Amino acid sequence: MAVKDLSVALQQRREQQLYRQRQVVESPQSPAMVVDGRKVLTFCSNDYLGLADHPDLIAAFKRGADQYGVGSGSAHLVNGHSRAHHELEEALADFTGRPRALLFSTGYMANLGAVTALMGRGDAIFEDRLNHASLLDAGLLSGARFKRYPHGDCAALAKMLGDSGQAERMVVSDGVFSMDGAIAPVTELATTAKLHDASLMIDDAHGFGVLGEHGGGVAEQYGLDMAQLPILMGTLGKAFGTAGAFIAGSEALIETLIQFARSYIYTTAQPPAIAVATLASLQIVVTENWRREKLKGLITRFRQGAQELGLDLMPSETPIQPILLGSAERALAVSESLWQQGILLTAIRPPTVPAEGSRLRVTLSARHSEADVDQLLSVLERSVVSG
Ligand SMILES: *Cc1c(COP(=O)(O)O)cnc(C)c1O
Repeated sequence: MAVKDLSVALQQRREQQLYRQRQVVESPQSPAMVVDGRKVLTFCSNDYLGLADHPDLIAAFKRGADQYGVGSGSAHLVNGHSRAHHELEEALADFTGRPRALLFSTGYMANLGAVTALMGRGDAIFEDRLNHASLLDAGLLSGARFKRYPHGDCAALAKMLGDSGQAERMVVSDGVFSMDGAIAPVTELATTAKLHDASLMIDDAHGFGVLGEHGGGVAEQYGLDMAQLPILMGTLGKAFGTAGAFIAGSEALIETLIQFARSYIYTTAQPPAIAVATLASLQIVVTENWRREKLKGLITRFRQGAQELGLDLMPSETPIQPILLGSAERALAVSESLWQQGILLTAIRPPTVPAEGSRLRVTLSARHSEADVDQLLSVLERSVVSG
């Protein structure tokens, strides 16, 4: 980047139709929102269970603020580790069926912290080509040999593991791929990793809350215990409707992260009130299975309608239902047309997705109604099919 003349790179970004702009939100996260001063129906948040604006979470958050104030004041290893953080860690350990869980301030930091604490020079990391940016960054930052295997391809992964000479090897994958909605072949990944004496880490940011009878994500849905899946990561800003993230695993894993994960050690603990709100959220995630059932119904309704319109969907059974449009220009144009018709659905463009893989990433929430889905479909018919 020409730091002395940043306008060159910015202009280039504009010309490639890749320029990003933020819209200003003036309402809680929910299907009906006020964005840039306009009332719109939204289909792009990760609030899958509709909990970000739930009265129980808001009440818990307020209680937490009354009890702990706002800021945590310091890092967990100084004096920022509150009773609320501690209780949430115990509840998350319970929830995941692992002995321990460790709370991080964000998912990005959890991934960076875990991978760089566990892997380094002389080791090798194997990542799915479509892994989330935070996992790719973590792999690069670790200093380990960094290899990417073709998306979801366990045979290619097995070959790469077989060919590698490093003593310590780790396989890392998204549980649900964030831009496609596809579920990783987690059982096969676990078998492949085990066979080659590699450890396995799954980032289930989009699976927790959504998959499994009690929202335990891919680990619950496919029954992966700690021996098969030793490093399990989840985030709290998506289906949980709050903020933060966690790693769940063995006593030794969590103690290692507390000692060595730099993004855990050198950052201020999240506000304790968020942990109080997340405890309330966890309660709903585990007990209110109707939210997952409702979501399934909406997913089926959307897919059937979109298929009837001949839209280019991806093979996804999760609330992430992208419509492939190809060029960044086309994705932007359709997104703009939807906006004009009262629907917010942001265009996802490279480098977030591969070249010519621009798409509208439709996400559904348990708070959407069938009528909302039907409205989206009729606007899509006008904007994509006839447009
Ligand atoms: C959102 C996301 C993250 C980052 O989590 P944050 O809490 O938003 O920092 C990590 N991995 C995946 C797969 C994600 O989708």
